Amino acid sequence: MEPFVYEALSNRVIFGVGRRVEVGAEADRLEATRILLIADAHDEVTIDEISGALGERCVAVYTDVAQHVPKNLAEKVRALATSSGATATVTLGGGSATGFGKAVSLSHRLPQICIPTTYAGSELTPIWGLSDGEHKETGRDLVVLPKTVIYDPELTLGLPIAIAGPSAMNALAHAVEGLYGPGANPVMSALALESVRVLSTHLPLMHASPASIEERSQVLYGAYLAGTALAVVGTALHHKTCHVLGGLYGLDHGQMNAVVLPHALAFNAPAIAEAYECLSQVLGGDAAGKLYDLARDLETPASLLEIGMPPEGVARAAPLVVAECTSNVRPINEAQAIEFLTNCVKGERP
Ligand code: NAD
Repeated sequence: MEPFVYEALSNRVIFGVGRRVEVGAEADRLEATRILLIADAHDEVTIDEISGALGERCVAVYTDVAQHVPKNLAEKVRALATSSGATATVTLGGGSATGFGKAVSLSHRLPQICIPTTYAGSELTPIWGLSDGEHKETGRDLVVLPKTVIYDPELTLGLPIAIAGPSAMNALAHAVEGLYGPGANPVMSALALESVRVLSTHLPLMHASPASIEERSQVLYGAYLAGTALAVVGTALHHKTCHVLGGLYGLDHGQMNAVVLPHALAFNAPAIAEAYECLSQVLGGDAAGKLYDLARDLETPASLLEIGMPPEGVARAAPLVVAECTSNVRPINEAQAIEFLTNCVKGERP
């Protein structure tokens, strides 16, 4: 057996239908008495519910959330953290809301409780990101690892399939790269493969029955496993590419993930024979092709062209992808990056 290193990350996870009402008790566990609630504005009823559950602990509410944490908005939420005297944050929403909480944790060293409403997985990672319209800066700092995560599948019932599908493909990408990212180890591989099994089994069922709380729960659970793998193992070509494209063109994160994943996996395939074989067994056929088919079943966009990437963007993005991917499991040069990105722009089955 190959030797390995596995460094577990410490956080408390509460999973279950209706468990969001426990947010006040979780704040007390952290001895957090002044809370800044950061929420994306998609669901005002739940914002009121969570702020009500926090009661007097909630000293401010921030809702101006955007994808990829633009630096000007990060300054805005940080200023509110200062002026309100917050000693902790609670974030409610997708990866974007979580990212704003992380921006505050990074600057103010505040603990964060996350209540995720998508499958982004950011709530499990010590990775932060900030963007300035051209470049997305990311870093790893344990201070931004949320202390507590409350997964309540009820909050995902309203997630439209048009968002749920791409978001779940983002989770699948975490699981897939969890098999061969820089920190890969057998413990996380077992978890990542289970995540792929749960997600690939239950995503079509959720797509067919979006009101099924059981299917929503299974997909959220699969996404939780995937996020755990992401947090420990780190990222490879797929996520690095999405960060480059997100920074350059502000493409929707979930949709971008749905497009790029099969092509990134196909590129890496020659370097990850064992992982590829395991994935193909779980997915019931050639892994890259099966992921592409699953994305079509979920009706996610097939090509970067469809989601706003200009074709001439390939030449601009390729050197940045190469620079970001020096530790990818299969080395990539600029000609290969152009070919890979062109495949993503075209969106044909790998
Ligand atoms: P998002 O948070 O931007 O949400 C997408 C859309 O869904 C938004 O319009 C939001 O209002 C809406 N929405 C969220 N939950 C909903 C619900 N339950 N019902 C209806 N609408 C809902 O998108 P995302 O894909 O969750 O997160 C993307 C961001 O997270 C990106 O910036 C990405 O870089 C970041 N991310 C970071 C990490 C990390 O480890 N740091 C990991 C994954 C993603």
